[in-house]
Amino acid sequence: MASSPKLRKGTALGLGLALTLASCASDERPFLLPPDAVQAATPTTAVSTTGPTPPTTADPGEPLALITPTGVVVPILEVGEGGYLVQTPCQEQATLTFGTPLREVDVVLDPGHGGEIETGAVGPNGLTEKDLNLRLSKLTALRISERGFTVALTRTNDYRVPLITRAQIADTLKAEALISIHHNAPVLADSDTPGSEIFYQTASLQSARLGGLIQEEVLEALSAFDDVDWVSAADAGVLGVLKPDGTESYGMIRRPETTAVLAELGYLANPSEAELFASDEYVEVAAEALANAVERFLSTNESGVAPNDQNRTFTPTGGTGGVAGCTDPALE
Ligand SMILES: [Zn+2]
Repeated sequence: MASSPKLRKGTALGLGLALTLASCASDERPFLLPPDAVQAATPTTAVSTTGPTPPTTADPGEPLALITPTGVVVPILEVGEGGYLVQTPCQEQATLTFGTPLREVDVVLDPGHGGEIETGAVGPNGLTEKDLNLRLSKLTALRISERGFTVALTRTNDYRVPLITRAQIADTLKAEALISIHHNAPVLADSDTPGSEIFYQTASLQSARLGGLIQEEVLEALSAFDDVDWVSAADAGVLGVLKPDGTESYGMIRRPETTAVLAELGYLANPSEAELFASDEYVEVAAEALANAVERFLSTNESGVAPNDQNRTFTPTGGTGGVAGCTDPALE
């Protein structure tokens, strides 16, 4: 956990929130960007007092995705004369002339759900999962970037992103880890401990390791909250979830080639947990726990909690992974 963070050339922060941290100048001029956008996109280079100084003149590499002027993250398909040919959230193609380029990142965080229709779970206090997931993802991204790792989000605001595009963003950015962040429903049996469930790719040892570290950090951090009436499933933990035919049930696990997990930190449908999740303190504590897990995943060989021996069987119905009925958000 205490290992020095890995340093990577061309360190760039993949989210608007963290761009305000930019503190050093760069002579890099990304293609077709206006000068003010270049300034805003100037990377915060990770500086370690003990590690080697990253080269400042290194080629930052090809831009792989863009944060559009409206904050939407889109994979770049091609850089041409007219601008960037990008893949929209709804899997259409568009040409953009402005945007903040994203290069290879260590981690992609995926705030589950989003948009008018897809709120995800809703707490009895009115807190929607889409908003909670986004808030937690943004702060987690900030905490990860503060430790010297590069990070991007699949969604930066309240709009719908089909699962296929979320997976594509992580794959395009060549992330070493993709973490889809969720909060669960319905209300299950009372429990002395948080009912956190981390779904992993059953064919991937790295996914099991990522899930194990997240489960260990999140359980420890959330257990420190007093006076919460937790609920849990009997088989909560690091879990494989498979269809009867043996394939992965969840799109965010099945679709990405990137090492991925889907983390259900707790139960938003449970009144006591919903109250906790609405607090600033919860978001701070959970973000710190997730950043700890990411740091351990990227800089150690530790594996945390072992996955359950028994996989869960689940057949998804009417998922929101596809692009049917998808309306793209404004891109510029
Ligand atoms: Zn969810």
